[in-house]
Amino acid sequence: MANWNQRTIAKRVSVTGVGLHSGKPATLTLAPAPADSGITFVRMDLGVEIPARADLVTDTILSTSLAVGNARVATVEHVLAALTGLGIDNCRVEVDGPEIPILDGSAAPFVWLVQEGGIEKQRAGKRFLVIDQPVEIREGGKLARLDPAAEMTIRFTVDFDHPLVTDQTFEFRFSDRRFARELAPARTFCFLRDIEYMKSKGLAQGGSLDNAIVVDDFSILNPEGLRFPDEFARHKVLDAIGDLTLIGMPIIGALTAVKSGHAMNQALVRKVLATPGSHRVVRVSAEAELEPLRIRLPALGAVESHA
Ligand SMILES: [Zn+2]
Repeated sequence: MANWNQRTIAKRVSVTGVGLHSGKPATLTLAPAPADSGITFVRMDLGVEIPARADLVTDTILSTSLAVGNARVATVEHVLAALTGLGIDNCRVEVDGPEIPILDGSAAPFVWLVQEGGIEKQRAGKRFLVIDQPVEIREGGKLARLDPAAEMTIRFTVDFDHPLVTDQTFEFRFSDRRFARELAPARTFCFLRDIEYMKSKGLAQGGSLDNAIVVDDFSILNPEGLRFPDEFARHKVLDAIGDLTLIGMPIIGALTAVKSGHAMNQALVRKVLATPGSHRVVRVSAEAELEPLRIRLPALGAVESHA
């Protein structure tokens, strides 16, 4: 079957680790799911399913959280980025606690988990949300904007008031191989000056140099240094891919983001879904259908499973 068929994970695979903000250990399992079912989080300890959908976002402070009633799942963005980055359309993400494990602070461990489980192609054609008209959120010097484009691209500019994290831009043209090599290993980051405040608010209880880049006024505190010179901007692209996954399917369009974060990314997703004419959903089952749509499908299939 061609690379525009929907994909799920071939067999159940698990990993255990602590939550960045709760500090509590949790086991996460990726499990196969039927075509057209999308990505669904399952709180195994509560028996509640929480679909990965924008209307279920409850919190965007430092990470993205979803909830159905009182059942909540926090820090969903890195596992969502890994699934979208590898072209997985349908998956059950089971977790036995309130937060997805942070692991090393990047999406690389989730990529290894998907590779361990293997990728299974399904019969249904892939669905894409194609951007037809520009939609943007602008606040002061911050911007998150989606424009029509033939394929998925992201250009993200990071500009913190800090000498090491200033005016850094990363551009990404989507393919699963590029995602696995260039984005997945980029870790989350925080400033030493913010850590005391976060801990006083009950956040970052599980944070350490093993799962985040920590920057003080002049230097990187992690002894191993950075994985990429522009690791900060790369991680923001990774977060944006995870956040945009909550639109319900992969996007064909160009994202331009300047100093955006989880809250702005989610505001953009909500605005697209609420703006008639801004987008349409296409299902692609055969190559002949691509020409009239004037889109190019993302390159998928380079990251093969080792199952
Ligand atoms: Zn992140």
